[in-house]
Amino acid sequence: MSEKTDLYSLAAQRLTEYMKGKNIRKTPERFEILRVICQISGIFSIDELQVYMEKNAKFQVSRVTLFNTLKLLEDATLVIKHTLARAAHYECCITPHPMVCLVCQKCGTVRKLESSKIENWLSEQKCKQFVITQPVLYFHGLCRSCIVKNSIRKRQANKNKKIQKK
Ligand SMILES: [Zn+2]
Repeated sequence: MSEKTDLYSLAAQRLTEYMKGKNIRKTPERFEILRVICQISGIFSIDELQVYMEKNAKFQVSRVTLFNTLKLLEDATLVIKHTLARAAHYECCITPHPMVCLVCQKCGTVRKLESSKIENWLSEQKCKQFVITQPVLYFHGLCRSCIVKNSIRKRQANKNKKIQKK
């Protein structure tokens, strides 16, 4: 069995227990969405999940089902929701670990920063009267493609200024 299959069986077991406790109906759609989510490494938006579903799911579900299932998985603490700049981003958190996210304030893309130093520091943090379940740190800034676009725009604006002066 692969690591991802292991992750899914653990996640499916937890979802089953959660739904049993809440009297929520077990539907094949919910488990298929969870299975696909377990194959994604990293952060994804609902649009990206839809693309993953189209490519990898055994059957297709509506966007409403996707949205509702994400909410359910979030309640069941199987998925963490990052509420960032534009669209919400989600991530599988069956085995939570500290992380650093880079959020582009221009285009809204989110990616993980690989830094074991900060991750170690995050995992050591303790708060009084507060239990940390998911240590996440966000850095807001500009991604590479937005920096490039910005500098092209600036260069173009400067050029236009020079032309106007002439
Ligand atoms: Zn950007």
